[in-house]
Order: sequence, then structure tokens, then C-alpha cells
Amino acid sequence: MRLLLVEDELEIQGFLQRSLTEAGYQVEAAGDGRTAERLAIESSHDVLIVDLGLPDQDGISLILRLRQLGLTAPVLILSARRSVDDRVRGLEQGGDDYLTKPFALAELLARLRNLLKRNNASGAEATRLRVLDLELDLLRREASRSGTRLNLTPQEFVLLEYLCRNAGRVVTRSMILDQVWGMRIQPDTNVVDVHIYRLRGKVDADGYGPLIRTLRGVGYVLRDR
Ligand code: CA
Repeated sequence: MRLLLVEDELEIQGFLQRSLTEAGYQVEAAGDGRTAERLAIESSHDVLIVDLGLPDQDGISLILRLRQLGLTAPVLILSARRSVDDRVRGLEQGGDDYLTKPFALAELLARLRNLLKRNNASGAEATRLRVLDLELDLLRREASRSGTRLNLTPQEFVLLEYLCRNAGRVVTRSMILDQVWGMRIQPDTNVVDVHIYRLRGKVDADGYGPLIRTLRGVGYVLRDR
């Protein structure tokens, strides 16, 4: 198992590198976000450990950036930030698990094993959503129709995931703004319509039965039959 460790405190980095190597991982270590990004691009890893307080950037920004670059491996956030807000933010923005410092090595190893198990095909059932021939892989953040991969942006994936979770039910523009964009935008904006238009161009492309229906003046519904 290849592991990328992103930690700027050299004492913790050294300790983890030794312990994880002993536990059977092939460890590559980075002390800042830029090095981590380079290592992540140069080779693939099965799992990542990311500290949030890095010298050149926030760990969350690093994770988001790596996800944009197509990283699908699970990420364990290891941080001294203990507040519920920090943990929720970390998990919502690309982290798969969150462990606070100080930590017990045994717990870290157990969580890594869990993440790797969850990311395996065998344990993947709960991480998939299916509506008719549309399938979403929530861990890899990939969508497909009839087995053909759809080329979605991260934002389009989030939007499609929301529609899937509400398949057969009408979702209004304001529900989508609230759930997908967190109401950070003016409600009179046409951002929802624009994204639905682009999403439909990919999900309901030629040859597929249309799944996304518009209910004029109300919102949208993803057909489930
Ligand atoms: Ca740090």
C-alpha cells in the first residue's frame, strides 16, 4: 500500500514515516502543500494523511486541489484543530476521515485500514447511488450511464448527487441553491439553470433516455422510472 504523508512538523513526520513503514506501508512524505501536490501527480497513492496547518497553504485547500486534479484515494485528515466546525468542514471538503492530535498510533492504523477497506470494490456497495441506468460512485466521484463514464466537473457531480438522492421528487431552485451552493449566491441568480443545462448536456446526451425533467416555474425532478 502506497501512502502519501503531508505533515510539516518534522518530529511527527519522522515518527509516522517510521511507524507506517513498519506497519507495511510504502510512505512518501511532504512537509508542505506544493511538494505534496508534486508527489501526488508524479505517482499514485492508495491513501493520504494530510495535516491541516501547512506552512504554504491550508490542508483543506490542498485536498480540494488534489480532488480537482482527479485524486480518488481516501484522505485521512490529521489535525490539532478539534472543533466540531473544523471536523465537519474537513469531512465535507474532500476528507474521508478526521483524527485529532494527539493521537494513538493504533487508532490511526485502524482508521487507515477502514478507509482502504471502504475504498475497495468489495465494500463499495454503500458508496454507490443508482437510478435506472445512472450510477454514481461517491468515493471516486464518478458518474456513468449504462456503464459509460460521464465527464462531470466536481460541482456538476454534487448537483447530480443531490438530484439522485431525491430521485422522483421535485427539487426547487432554492432547495438546490441551499443544498449544493450553501446559499452563498443571490437567489435570483441563474446559476442553477446554467448548471442544470450543462449537466443535462452530459447526463441526457444523445442515445440516452432523458432523466432530468424541468417543471416550469417550479424546479427539477430526476426520473426514477
Ligand atoms: Ca502543521
